[in-house]
Amino acid sequence: MTFDSSTPPAAYGTPVGNATPVETRRPVFQKTLKTSIGCTGIGLHSGVRVAMKLHPAAPNTGIIFKRIDLIGGGATIKASWEHVADSRMCTVLADRNGISVATVEHLMSAFYGMEIDNVIVELNGPEVPAMDGSAEPFIFLIECAGVLEQDIPRRALRILKPHAHNNGAKSVALSPWHEGLRVDFHIDFHASAIGRQHCSFTVDPDTFRDELSRARTFGLLSDVTALREAGLARGGSLTNAIVVDGDRVLNDEGLRHDNEFVRHKALDAIGDLYLAGHPIIAHFTGRCSSHADTARLMRQVYADRSCWEMVDIWQDVQAVAPWMNVRGRAAVA
Ligand SMILES: [Zn+2]
Repeated sequence: MTFDSSTPPAAYGTPVGNATPVETRRPVFQKTLKTSIGCTGIGLHSGVRVAMKLHPAAPNTGIIFKRIDLIGGGATIKASWEHVADSRMCTVLADRNGISVATVEHLMSAFYGMEIDNVIVELNGPEVPAMDGSAEPFIFLIECAGVLEQDIPRRALRILKPHAHNNGAKSVALSPWHEGLRVDFHIDFHASAIGRQHCSFTVDPDTFRDELSRARTFGLLSDVTALREAGLARGGSLTNAIVVDGDRVLNDEGLRHDNEFVRHKALDAIGDLYLAGHPIIAHFTGRCSSHADTARLMRQVYADRSCWEMVDIWQDVQAVAPWMNVRGRAAVA
């Protein structure tokens, strides 16, 4: 892929000598779902059973959450960093009237990973279902529905200069990068079953599906009581989270990756970054950081207009794959 901030005069390549113009690249177009699809599950924090339906949406719609259980079914909230209302344990979006949708990050991460731009997410409750605590069930839904390429080009947010947010031992940073979104994450937990972990990925659909989507959310057994007293983790169980007690993983099935914990933190960060409303061309680094730190960084970046630009995304025509995953080799024009 190539990223241009201005549209070139010859959209499909430049003629060489007297030869017939060769189509060397084409815009990457926005994508939605081919058809509606749904699932039902428990909200991780609310403990409420919620039915969710994903519907195709027109180009430039973005990701819209719709609470059909409220105000005659008309309450909608755009998935945007501007609507982050709480990020203590999960990312909660809310509108001006306080109508909210919680735990959007795993679904948003699946949309980012699968390069989905436009979807209406209909919910009959206050929280996206946790499913198994990872993004894999959402990838399954997207693949079952099928992906439809639309006729409007996709645009990306390119970071032009480094930005960081430090919060004690935690930090998050975005810096310029030449190829899509690179994510580096580091964690360091006292619980020895987690300990120090690091992962590093360039996000594309194959990598997301194979390396990140299956990583589940996790919690420490010692925190469960405090979380429940704070009204959180009411729906949490060993079926939708990894639970750790010191050097032990309490889930009978064990881990899906040796470093599943840090992979999940990367998955969370990708979902939170998609609240930019566009894919991001940058290198993201998170060190022991939380949803709140990523939300703060997003606000900081958007407050500095010299920090970013919107660019068109192009791909090599030769590299077009037959399936939805139309990708080529990335480079900056
Ligand atoms: Zn998570």
